[in-house]
Amino acid sequence: MRPLHVLLSVAVAAPQLFAQASSVTAIRAARLIIGDGSQIESPIVVITGERITAVGPAAQVRVPSGATVIDLAGYTLMPGFFDMHTHITSIDNDGGDLSVLKETAAHGAIYATINAKKTLDAGFTTIREAGATDYVDVVVRDAVNRGLIPGPRIHAAGPSLGSTGGHADVNGWSPNIMIPGTGAIVDGPDAIRHQVRKNVKYGSDQIKFVATGGILSVGDAVNAPQYGDDEMKALVDEATRLGRRVMAHAHGGAGLLAAVNAGVASIEHGSLVDDAAITAMKARGTYLVPTLIILEEIVTDGVRKGVPANSIAKATAIAADRRVRLRQAYRSGVKFALGTDATSDIHGRNGEEFKYMVDILGATPMDAITIGTMNSATLLGVEKDFGSVTTGKVADLVAVQGNPLQDIALLAHVQFVMKGGVVVKSSAAVR
Ligand SMILES: [Zn+2]
Repeated sequence: MRPLHVLLSVAVAAPQLFAQASSVTAIRAARLIIGDGSQIESPIVVITGERITAVGPAAQVRVPSGATVIDLAGYTLMPGFFDMHTHITSIDNDGGDLSVLKETAAHGAIYATINAKKTLDAGFTTIREAGATDYVDVVVRDAVNRGLIPGPRIHAAGPSLGSTGGHADVNGWSPNIMIPGTGAIVDGPDAIRHQVRKNVKYGSDQIKFVATGGILSVGDAVNAPQYGDDEMKALVDEATRLGRRVMAHAHGGAGLLAAVNAGVASIEHGSLVDDAAITAMKARGTYLVPTLIILEEIVTDGVRKGVPANSIAKATAIAADRRVRLRQAYRSGVKFALGTDATSDIHGRNGEEFKYMVDILGATPMDAITIGTMNSATLLGVEKDFGSVTTGKVADLVAVQGNPLQDIALLAHVQFVMKGGVVVKSSAAVR
């Protein structure tokens, strides 16, 4: 048994970490939340290389001789968390829409490098990007996978697709000025199919598009559809043909319902999801990614954050309805996944979303954890390898001191992170 201080002194330098991954590690903890809604008291989890090779109560699991033992006494062990809606290339006060006038892909790459480490340190070992210009999220994904920089497993989107004048466009300026959109601005089924093919060609793992107006955009009502039914069908058809799932930004109304009927995997935000949409989502198994933290904070803290007055007004106008509608969707049995819409200062605070799911959706702490682990893994299609602490799965694990089933806010303070069998964060308190 190697002394623990060897483990704790491991610097976050990629070559050493990967070398360590061939060894055997056994983790003890106060409890294990598996990710499927069940738990084990006083568990042992054995990890060989990057995979989990045994899980069970301490009395039933043998610690292999020579294994490094990590004793997380007083801690709750869980699967690595998933954030299904991030914008990893965005940072504090980058100017919102106007960043396209001031910044380049190089800015986004540096911001993403900073944000990727913050996200991983917060216990989020997998993220799904929701739109990045210049395919910067693809580049960052590949850099993380090559071990060049620390970060979560990134499912990249590339640019999101949106209509002229819509939420992904930059509006309110003179027609004499050419301003690029914050996404790829394409209209009509043929142009949309072409852009989906381009996204796939340049590395997108999923396709993101804008089905209705948004909060952080000018000149578009949050509920207004922004693509025709034929355009949405062409988009999903092309993406599906190329083996990509589709995520649709949609707040409510006819645009949200049309996106569901077109066959998207998930509705992002869903602020004003109505009964017709709830029925359709349940029938089709469409996920809802409610991005609670960002919309709550635009209302409560938008001025300090420098959010434009127009956006604060939009978010405030729908805030009360949004809480009611999302809770209704949750209670009705729509499938939920965790997403923060991490932009600006939310990177690294992703774990605060769990408390919002309990407070606003009315989820139990256990269900909130399932939403942020196994449900989200299933939405991504990686549930065979990730999302729960089960024998055979990849060892992406996190731990917090105390019991999050009693205090969900603890999930915003992750002290231990393992990714693929390698400890990437371990506070001095871990013994
Ligand atoms: Zn977003």
